[in-house]
Amino acid sequence: MTVTVINPATEETIATLESAGVDETDAAVARAKAAFPAWRAVSPADRGRLLRRLATLVEEHHEELSRIECDNVGKPISGARGEVGMVADVFHFYAGAVDKRHGETIPVAGGIDMTFREPLGVVGLIVPWNFPLNISSWKLGPALATGNTIVLKPAELTPLSAMRLAELALEAGIPEGVLNVVVGKGSIVGQRLVEHPDVAKIGFTGSTEVGRSVMEGAAATIKRVTLELGGKSANVVFADADLEKAAAAAPYAVFDNAGQDCCARSRILVERAAYDRFTELLIQATRSLKVGDPKRDETEMGPLISQSHRETVASFVETTPLFQGDTPEGKGYWFPCTLVEATNDDKVAREEVFGPVAALIPFDDEADAIRIANDTPYGLSGSIWTTDGARALRVARALDTGVLSINSNSSVRVSTPFGGFKQSGFGRELGMHALDGYTEVKNVYYSTEG
Ligand code: NDP
Repeated sequence: MTVTVINPATEETIATLESAGVDETDAAVARAKAAFPAWRAVSPADRGRLLRRLATLVEEHHEELSRIECDNVGKPISGARGEVGMVADVFHFYAGAVDKRHGETIPVAGGIDMTFREPLGVVGLIVPWNFPLNISSWKLGPALATGNTIVLKPAELTPLSAMRLAELALEAGIPEGVLNVVVGKGSIVGQRLVEHPDVAKIGFTGSTEVGRSVMEGAAATIKRVTLELGGKSANVVFADADLEKAAAAAPYAVFDNAGQDCCARSRILVERAAYDRFTELLIQATRSLKVGDPKRDETEMGPLISQSHRETVASFVETTPLFQGDTPEGKGYWFPCTLVEATNDDKVAREEVFGPVAALIPFDDEADAIRIANDTPYGLSGSIWTTDGARALRVARALDTGVLSINSNSSVRVSTPFGGFKQSGFGRELGMHALDGYTEVKNVYYSTEG
């Protein structure tokens, strides 16, 4: 079986690869298992040194990696450059972090009690197609730093950057067998990793539906799992907010990466008193978004990942949109920026579109905003726009959401924890919190009695 890799902006084939099956997956797990004892024995500072070298190589290959992501995902080159920059920063962060998380000594009778953080062993990392290298690095950084060995399964649609990264890891001096990349179908390679008795943990990012099956599959071997799943995040705009600023930022919060972003603020909740004015400003800002050739520096939105995904996204636009932008003519899986008016009960407000479609929903007051924002099975990210500081913090505490920003739409920073509440998953990536997800606490009691 082969994997055909397509550029979604041109529909051209950019690579044809062998698709791995169960045997290749088992072989990769065996390589990772064999490499584990020596890798865990490398001192944390030396593992950090190797990760730092990898970070430097990513910087040296910044443009090459950005172009791979641009061609393979169809994402604008400016966005791809930002993401690859973050990949290097993530490896730098964990290179420096690994020897700064210490154990404890606990006062007990008759001896000394201490804790250690041990690596888990072979870790299976399963990542989606929307931010292939970026999301891989969020898992690889903490997992490698803490002494685990890896089998990484990129999405079949976007395997190229992970394959290149594995080459750079070898060039950095990370020993053979420590980082293995297997390209193949999720239902075969991914599922085998989930079932494999020698895999200690699955770090998964993807849809809530597949996340559920990962969790079920992991139960058989009591595997650890971290799940970063879907979202239906709210962008809550109060009437006292800086409406110009909020409206100028809102399109990027949902149309960035063509809306194929788990953090997309795809429900824009606006206080009724400001609804008409905000809507007018939002349409203006959305109209000026530059959609087109991802290779151009000025492009802000590219195509969707595939034809079938475009059909799924289109099925969410059931009413006449409030606004719909233009798309380039000809080849490419384009879909226009779309704003629709909705209630929170409509399909477009309940399900993850994963495309450039935002639902505008009015609310009456603070309590109503909190009620609507929380009325979703998801809880990944969100924003609150207001000039009332006390209200901003009151609402932030009331939202069942893992990652929030106030008067901003940013979600992700290298040094801060990222992850969801409710059906957006569990476990945290990035920051020092991610180190916990790739280690197990060991307690050792040393008797001092004669
Ligand atoms: P999927 O859940 O379909 O796929 C994610 C990964 O899982 C892919 O590598 C896929 O492989 C693999 N996979 C598919 N089936 C199985 C299986 N049965 N067992 C194990 N692995 C499997 O998601 P998408 O790739 O379509 O990505 C979009 C989704 O990811 C969205 O819902 C989005 O919200 C979510 N996401 C969440 C993020 C977060 O941090 N919370 C970040 C980014 C995306 P393959 O595709 O090769 O078959």
